[in-house]
Amino acid sequence: MLLDGLALSKIVRTELADRVSELKKQGIHPRLDVIVAAQDPASVAYVKMKRKWAEAAGIDGEAFEITDATSQEELMAQIKAVNENPHVHGVLLQHPLPKHLDEDAALLALGAEKDVDGITPASLGRLTAGLPGFRCATPLGITKILDHYNIDVTGKRALVIGRSHILGKPMALMLLERNATVTIAHSRTLDLADRCREADILVAAVGRAEMVKGDWIKPGAIVIDAGYNKVEGRKGDVGDVDFESASKIAGAITPVPGGVGPMTVASLLSNAITAAEQMVS
Ligand code: NAP
Repeated sequence: MLLDGLALSKIVRTELADRVSELKKQGIHPRLDVIVAAQDPASVAYVKMKRKWAEAAGIDGEAFEITDATSQEELMAQIKAVNENPHVHGVLLQHPLPKHLDEDAALLALGAEKDVDGITPASLGRLTAGLPGFRCATPLGITKILDHYNIDVTGKRALVIGRSHILGKPMALMLLERNATVTIAHSRTLDLADRCREADILVAAVGRAEMVKGDWIKPGAIVIDAGYNKVEGRKGDVGDVDFESASKIAGAITPVPGGVGPMTVASLLSNAITAAEQMVS
């Protein structure tokens, strides 16, 4: 079965537009601001796509563009400004920031109530403690795919490959929250292929094109490919899973593109609208 994140995102986006209309009737215009490294082509492309979808849903927003000339003081002043601006409901701090800036300090300063990407230490702490808060957009999008296709992970063996703060770790925690038995693999994991073969649910969040092969997969397993990789000589993005071989063995699999990516954006926008809705209630 193909887990079609793009088709699902279209359904979700219609719901988002309805929620925005309701807010606007009450005089609230949801606004998602962006802080982005203007000289990073990948970040600029991701943000452009996110802004396009936000506009289509009726969400306003302004961008603060970071260049090599931006100082830490200017970045922190911008974070303070969005934190204090009641018209800004959500802020996307697009990772990565240029190396000369302290991204951790920026994330620590961003208010959890505006962290609609769910990547600040405060949001991740809330997830860890099982407290309400904005959940990290990519793993949240993945849970929405699982729900849409009625995939119950309770008691199942889940393997997440990758332990980044924005993807692997929160994914593992969200699967644990859903009562899966979770293992996290990373670059030091021994016998990775064998660990994969034990998994009923396999989430690849690595950043290595087509690393996970079909013969690593347990027959019938659910395979979620969060990877987006550029490969020289190939058009478009390539996942972390070798789709051709894996799709013959897996019970269900997300494609790249058209799987996790669109649901990441839909989840980010949904969180931004929730942030605006929380102002009303
Ligand atoms: P990251 O910060 O570079 O983390 C990669 C993780 O993979 C690390 O934990 C690393 O282990 C692990 N790893 C690297 N090589 C490995 C290997 N050979 N075997 C096992 N584990 C290995 O990357 P990220 O930001 O989490 O992103 C991961 C992928 O998801 C990328 O392709 C990225 O483009 C994609 N992504 C997609 C979306 C989306 O919307 N679909 C959003 C964000 C990211 P160590 O910790 O030991 O170094």
